[in-house]
Amino acid sequence: MSLDLSLRRIPARPPMAGLPKGPASQDAITGSRVMHVTLPLDKPISDAKVLTGRQTPLAAHELLFVEIVSEAGHRGLGFSYTLRAGGSALYGIGCELAPILQGQDPNDIGRLWERLAWQSISLGRGGAAYQAICAFDVALWDMKARRADLPLAKLLGAHRDSCRIYNSSGQFLQASVADMKTAAETSMQKGIGGIKMKVGQPDGQEDLKRIDALRTHLPDAIALMIDANQQWDRAYALQFGRIVDDIGLAFIEEPLDAWDFEGHADLARALATPVATGEMLTSPQEHFRLIGLGGCDISQADAPRIGGITPFLKVMAMAEASQVQLAPHMVMELHLHLAAAFPTEPWVEHFEFYDPLFNEHNEIRDGRMHVSDRPGLGLSLSGRALDLIVASQKFGDFHDA
Ligand SMILES: [Mg+2]
Repeated sequence: MSLDLSLRRIPARPPMAGLPKGPASQDAITGSRVMHVTLPLDKPISDAKVLTGRQTPLAAHELLFVEIVSEAGHRGLGFSYTLRAGGSALYGIGCELAPILQGQDPNDIGRLWERLAWQSISLGRGGAAYQAICAFDVALWDMKARRADLPLAKLLGAHRDSCRIYNSSGQFLQASVADMKTAAETSMQKGIGGIKMKVGQPDGQEDLKRIDALRTHLPDAIALMIDANQQWDRAYALQFGRIVDDIGLAFIEEPLDAWDFEGHADLARALATPVATGEMLTSPQEHFRLIGLGGCDISQADAPRIGGITPFLKVMAMAEASQVQLAPHMVMELHLHLAAAFPTEPWVEHFEFYDPLFNEHNEIRDGRMHVSDRPGLGLSLSGRALDLIVASQKFGDFHDA
C-alpha cells in the first residue's frame, strides 16, 4: 500500500541552534588561546581512596586554560582542571572546540554552551567533554563581567560580598596529628573559619582518634567537617555517622559512593549532621537526580566538572528550590563568585593549590573570603603559570594583553 501524502502536513521546525547575528549582536570572538598547564604539588597528598588502594597519591594538577579576545577589544580568561588522568585529553578537546567560537557573539553564552556540547556529544553528556567546555564557558562569563566592569559575583546578582571559608589542604591522611594541628593553626592565622579533615581509613578507630584530637584542639568557633571520599558502605557510614552525630560537625562529606544517591538520601534522613556530596558528578542532570532524591543536605557541585558556570547556575537554582545548601568543591577562585550569588550562606573550600598560577588573590579575614572589586573573575595568569605550560595553541587573531 502506498502512503498518500497529498493531505498530510507537518510544520517546519524552528532552528534549534538559534539565529545569531540579529540587530542585538554586540561583538564577535576573533581569537583564542588554549593552554595545558601541569602544576606539580610540593608534597603528594593522599585521601581515603589512596589508603584503600584505589588511587595513587596526588602529585600534580592538570589545568586547561582558555583566553578569548573579541573584535570590540574585550578579553576573557577561563580554566578547568583534572586530577591524575585526562590533562592531555582536556587540552585535545579544547583545541578541537576553539574554532567553533570564532566569529560568534561572546554574549550568547547559552547558545555557545549548547553548540560546544553538541559538537562533543560523542563523548557523552558530561565527563571530559564538559570539563573542557568549562574553560570556554568561564572565559565567556569572565569577558561578559569585564565588559560590564563588574566582578562576576555582581554580574550574577550577589547575595553577599564575602563567603565563609574552610581549609582542606593540611588535613589529608598522610599528615600526622601533629602536622594536622600545625596546618590548622596556619589556616586560623590566615583568617580561615573552618577545617575539613579526611577520614575513611581502613581502621575507623584511627579516624575517630584523629577527629577527637583535632576537635579538642580547635576553638569552638572554628567549624570542623569530615570527608570520607566515598570509602564507606551504607551500614558502616550509618554506624560511623551515629558515633559522631552529636559533636556538631558542619557536615559529613562523601560518606558513600558518589553515585549511590539513594544511600546518601537514607543517610541524610538518619543523621542530624548534614550530609554533603556531589563533587564527583559530571553533569547538571546528575545533580538534578541527586537533589531530587534528597541525596544531600549540602550540594558540593564543582563547576569545572559539570561544564562551567552556565550549568552550575542551573544546579544552584535547583538546590535553592529544594532547600539544599551549597559548598562547592575546590577551585575557590571561581566558586567564590558563584557561592556569593547563592541565597543562603554557603561554604567555600580553601586550597592554596592555585595561588601560584594567578597574580591576584582574594582577601581572607574573619573566617571569610572577600570578592574583590576587580571585574570578571579578577584573575590574570602569573609568570609561573606561563612557565608551567606544557602545550599551547592559538586560534584566529589572538594577541597577548
Ligand atoms: Mg571531598
